Amino acid sequence: MDTPIEVLNRVFGYDSFREGQQEIIEHVVKGGDALVLMPTGGGKSLCYQIPALVRPGVGVVISPLIALMQDQVDALRALGVRAGFLNSTQGIDERQAVEAAFVGGELDLLYLAPERLRVDSTLRLLARGDISLFAIDEAHCVSQWGHDFRPDYLALSGLHERWPEVPRIALTATATPATHAEISSRLGLDQARHFVAGFDRPNIHYRITAKSEPKRQLLEFLRTEHPGDAGIVYCLSRSSVEKIAEFLADNGIPAVPYHAGLDAATRAAHQSRFLREDGLIVVATIAFGMGIDKPDVRFVAHLDLPKSVEGYYQETGRAGRDGLPATAWMAYGLQDVVQHRRLALEGDEAHRRRQVLHLDAMLALCETAGCRRVMLLDYFGQQLDKPCGNCDTCQAPPESWDATVPAQKVLSTVLRLFRERRQKFGVGQIVDILLGKKTAKVLQHGHDSLKVFGVGTELGNTEWHGVVRQLLAQGLLAVEPAHGALVLTDASADVLRGQREVRLRRDAPRPARSRPSGGGGSARPAVELPAEAAPVFERLRAWRAATAKEQGVPAYVIFHDATLREIATLAPSSLAELGKVSGVGENKLAKYGEQVLEALAS
Ligand code: ADP
Ligand code: ZN
Repeated sequence: MDTPIEVLNRVFGYDSFREGQQEIIEHVVKGGDALVLMPTGGGKSLCYQIPALVRPGVGVVISPLIALMQDQVDALRALGVRAGFLNSTQGIDERQAVEAAFVGGELDLLYLAPERLRVDSTLRLLARGDISLFAIDEAHCVSQWGHDFRPDYLALSGLHERWPEVPRIALTATATPATHAEISSRLGLDQARHFVAGFDRPNIHYRITAKSEPKRQLLEFLRTEHPGDAGIVYCLSRSSVEKIAEFLADNGIPAVPYHAGLDAATRAAHQSRFLREDGLIVVATIAFGMGIDKPDVRFVAHLDLPKSVEGYYQETGRAGRDGLPATAWMAYGLQDVVQHRRLALEGDEAHRRRQVLHLDAMLALCETAGCRRVMLLDYFGQQLDKPCGNCDTCQAPPESWDATVPAQKVLSTVLRLFRERRQKFGVGQIVDILLGKKTAKVLQHGHDSLKVFGVGTELGNTEWHGVVRQLLAQGLLAVEPAHGALVLTDASADVLRGQREVRLRRDAPRPARSRPSGGGGSARPAVELPAEAAPVFERLRAWRAATAKEQGVPAYVIFHDATLREIATLAPSSLAELGKVSGVGENKLAKYGEQVLEALAS
């Protein structure tokens, strides 16, 4: 029998374990139960795949992501692992073949959709085979909030009663203490060993920029930092998803939309193109992305504010799973704050309180002058001993300024409108009054006779919007749910009375251009290669694309970008040398080795 490290080297072609993997794998190999919290891209799959290969019997993997099972199984087969799946998309012949292989002990791994476990025939089938372990992927699906799969996942606790001697390993990237506790108790894993990996994703560069012209900002970001790269652009609404996808396509950037309003066939086609093609962008609502384990997503861009830090972390975590540099970029502005403050006022009391907490944490992340990564990790209860050096605030520390007087001007305008006129207005009107603009609306309401009319010409329109945004974020100002009118809060009074200083961060006049390592303004990819290796890499990519197409699998199933880059850089001249490259295991070496050497020699 192979040891875990031998399986890692031989089958997967990797040299060493990542943080946490070895301990988890050894624990499960010995028959222990485990609950694993590891960030997206941390390497959770190996934590059950290797034990399944080492222990006798078939590893049964429960995964809700039916649409991805085929790809997961293809990726394993490409490594020479005997894998199969059972879900509702299959024909009867295929299902019977997989069942026979399972019973006959001819599988290493069997992927199962959770709803299968509620069917008696599945349980009878499982009873006829020899099971090495149960892996419960995306284990946060048992949690109470907002998941479709919950009833099926609750049935999972029954597995342990039927197969008490089979070890169980539950895995998730959702890490807050509340979710952790809930998974543990609902899956009956309180006695299991809990593994909590570091949540840092050092290769992801975080950047949050003030939103002025989102489309232009997005375009500039893509053109200067990620030309030709695959990535995800998140928007809040279906209509903005459609618009942005069209806008990118019009500008010559390959992009497709994805949201719950599209029919299932279109969604599946767009997802499949994203996985299979190089350099495609998906513009999506948060309906997209769970379980997408495409390793070479080079950026995740948010054009609207995520609802919570957890959401932000999950979504940005989809970038850079292969460990190569990737960017999490977000443009965020006043309207985001207004909209979220309004949304946060819907629903029952408990819901509202939760929403407000989530939103405040998210806003604090956006407005911080400190290291974004430090703050993110702190949210998950983890410490970083020093600023990361790979986020926007570390690289260009924002200036803060004393905005007490401008804040007083905004607040007193809101106050006067209400006191003197019994009126409430949104940000546009307030700023027009401060700037002394005689617009039709200003004249119609006689706002040019207010004492504050024209007292704010020291700042421009954009700056005033920035001030209002930050006052909202700090709770020094509030919005009314119905019309988005600005109103004072309890804290406003202290500012108006001069008893509280207001410090704001200065928004960069233009979005920061690119991170220092990227340099210059010219178009260049996020991950650079030595000059002589670049054309070789392109040749290898072309070979990979053709091979993937021929086999009907995503390109990364053949080799990851990281592996191709290493091959291009090292230029191995023999199979033995090629076999040393990370990501080239026994099976792939046998299958593609000669072809790769040929592509290198040509
Ligand atoms: P997760 O499920 O935690 O998001 P995956 O299991 O998909 O992460 O792993 C992320 C990527 O890292 C995959 O492409 C995987 O092949 C790679 N990977 C995992 N473990 C290692 C390792 N020990 N060495 C090199 N690459 C690894
Ligand atoms: Zn930082």
